[in-house]
Amino acid sequence: MKIAEVIVDVPARQTDHPFDYAIPEKWEDILQPGMRVTVPFGPRRLQGFVIHIKSHSDVKTLKPIEAILDVTPVLNEELLELGKYLTETTLCFAISAYQAMLPAALKAKYEKEIRLVREENRSLLPEAIQALFKGRSTLDWKEVEHSDWLRPLQKAIQQGYLEVVYHVKEKAAAKTVKYVELAQPHEEVERAMNALPANAAKQKQLLTVLLSANEAMPLKELLEQTGASYASLKSLITKGLVAEKEIEVYRDPYEHRSFAKTAPLPLTDEQEKALSAIVERVRANEHEVFLLYGVTGSGKTEVYMQAIEEVLRQGKEAIVLVPEISLTPQMVKRFKGRFGSRVAVLHSGLSVGEKYDEWRKIHRKEVQLVVGARSAIFAPFENLGMIIIDEEHETSYKQEENPRYHARDVAIYRARVHGCPVVLGSATPSLESFARAKKGVYQLLTLQKRVSDNGMPNVHIVDMREELRSGNRSMFSRALFEKLKDRLHKGEQSVLFLNRRGYSTFVMCRSCGYVIRCPHCDISLTYHRTEQRLKCHYCGYEEPITYRCPSCGSEHIRFFGTGTQKVEEELTKLLPEARVIRMDVDTTSRKGAHERLLAEFGEGKADILLGTQMIAKGLDFPKITLVGVLAADTTLHLPDFRASEKTFQLLTQVSGRAGRHELPGEVVIQTYTPEHYSIALAAKHDYDTFYQREMVLRKMNGYPPFYYLTLITVSHPEITKAVAVTDKIAAYLRAQLSDEAIILGPVASPIARLHDRYRYQCMIKYKREPNMARALRAVIDRYQHDVSQGDLSITIDTNPYTMM
Ligand code: ADP
Ligand code: ZN
Ligand code: ZN
Repeated sequence: MKIAEVIVDVPARQTDHPFDYAIPEKWEDILQPGMRVTVPFGPRRLQGFVIHIKSHSDVKTLKPIEAILDVTPVLNEELLELGKYLTETTLCFAISAYQAMLPAALKAKYEKEIRLVREENRSLLPEAIQALFKGRSTLDWKEVEHSDWLRPLQKAIQQGYLEVVYHVKEKAAAKTVKYVELAQPHEEVERAMNALPANAAKQKQLLTVLLSANEAMPLKELLEQTGASYASLKSLITKGLVAEKEIEVYRDPYEHRSFAKTAPLPLTDEQEKALSAIVERVRANEHEVFLLYGVTGSGKTEVYMQAIEEVLRQGKEAIVLVPEISLTPQMVKRFKGRFGSRVAVLHSGLSVGEKYDEWRKIHRKEVQLVVGARSAIFAPFENLGMIIIDEEHETSYKQEENPRYHARDVAIYRARVHGCPVVLGSATPSLESFARAKKGVYQLLTLQKRVSDNGMPNVHIVDMREELRSGNRSMFSRALFEKLKDRLHKGEQSVLFLNRRGYSTFVMCRSCGYVIRCPHCDISLTYHRTEQRLKCHYCGYEEPITYRCPSCGSEHIRFFGTGTQKVEEELTKLLPEARVIRMDVDTTSRKGAHERLLAEFGEGKADILLGTQMIAKGLDFPKITLVGVLAADTTLHLPDFRASEKTFQLLTQVSGRAGRHELPGEVVIQTYTPEHYSIALAAKHDYDTFYQREMVLRKMNGYPPFYYLTLITVSHPEITKAVAVTDKIAAYLRAQLSDEAIILGPVASPIARLHDRYRYQCMIKYKREPNMARALRAVIDRYQHDVSQGDLSITIDTNPYTMM
């Protein structure tokens, strides 16, 4: 007998190991590791992944596998191994790791049914329940879920008359389209056609079109072409002359667009050098991590594309990761234009079905290249020739829920297995990566010059405190305003960037300084102008705005900060002739809106593009000659040791949007702290000095890349419990780890309360702790019971990117 080891779909510590199941004989030759199955688990039916097949088990009575959900494995051997690596490094459950690798459409969905155990029981049920079943033997759970019937039903279940059964359903099926074809040889059809009565003109027309098409036609197209009704077609089907059939198709989000084919550009010397270093490794099947450090506009993307060409020529596959927000239509166009139908694109804007289709193209080896956001790193390719991570410094490559993996680590893991290079590209590499490149762990490739001859844009820093002193209360400095007017006059385009993070409008009393906060979280409420309400962006709490201070009763309430709406209003007042496009979460929430707004701007339908983070990247329009940053300080004051790095990166990225083509660009950065090194050095495009200064601080304060971090966050509705547990964890770790490890805490988390739960943290800084993983596992095990009981929650992040 053959036995399958199955990881079941219950993300809990107790079930985080494989369970043995017997493979029914009929499936012995079919079942392979990496397939999904349905198995009995206690009273339930669960979905699970087969991870191994063996011929011996220590379990005495094995239950059989009930159903097979896949014909071919959805996870290959490499990805199954990768799952183990993820569970070890991120401390996640195996089931979470495997699910993270698959499109949402393949995740299990359960439907519950209440079933009569035996027909004889029917008469034993209370009459009301019998009526509910109306002669049926099953009842959909949804029918009764919220009804008063639940109690009597529960009783009958306890008595054993009824039982609950779980059905596993797949979320998305493949999409099919109806086609029509001839069901008989041409001569037969022609003969029948001639025999049709004169009033059957439409039927004749249908047959004529099908005869000349000589192949199956989409039903819709056929009816449109002939103007015939479905009824006419139906009568041909009844006569046996034509037949309908379903054909599987892909939901292609780009099907209505054609992409002009682009050819490789002749490279600059710098590009050529970088490319040949990468290509050499591709040809040699050798693993190596390259850091492609190139200023904005230096032509990194062209290097990626020509390297990919070589990979494809070798008959191999490539993955390109780009941050979600820079996966713009412009970006997609560049890759589709060069590689056509050999590319699959994966990003969060796609529907569940569309994502599933793109994934299937990869799985079936119909494409050789995937361009996508973070999770595309799990693309089920089996012959990888290269992995590229563009904007490698972006923190969105770290997943902030289980499994808390970093795409860069996964990329390096997979590339090692496949013996292929990884290319990390950035104009502002993360300190970790640059430090590794300096040490020779990564190979550094540099592009110092922009492709266009203009060089980097001129950056002016404006001290907003000075502006206020000279009586300018507007959110635009005089310099920025003059330049905006000038561009408007010359018919050139400007981009205004507003960093919303930490900059949303909060409400403060000018008399006593009271800030209105969420009653459930330690967070100030955000003012929403259109609805005239205050909202908590963490838990969703909201209340109407108030005009009187809840603390002192003063009426001097003010709405602080500047949202994009407010900037837009101000612009309309000051520059009424300017055409403005605003891009923020509000204007881009509808599907396709993001793309449409950008296209309009690209077509010159507006003079000013005003937006948040989402416009910082990937914008590449020739007529942009001015970029204004309204408040550069907003990321500086986050409670995060990476605040300066993030500020530097963001300012550099935004500045890089100006003057990428013939027209020279200019940048204005408004700030209240012009002396801060991250702002001053970003203005000078001086990454190297920034790197040196920041490294000194990181070393002094014991942060990455000098130390590794692990962050443990404990939360509980009672503050004393939260503190006590964190304290115990800290004490335990102090005893387990070496003297070199620094264990900080318990301290209140920067967001000390969220959803009415108090949050405490313990941070571990360490260099080398072979005992670390075991100690953290022990912490999880120690509190497993309390966590599963409900109130206590412990999250462990072994490589944190947000400290909140
Ligand atoms: P980066 O990704 O480094 O910001 P891009 O790859 O977007 O830079 O290149 C900037 C611009 O220069 C693009 O419009 C691109 O088409 C163009 N470009 C890149 N390489 C070359 C080249 N070798 N010759 C001419 N134009 C180039
Ligand atoms: Zn809240
Ligand atoms: Zn007040």
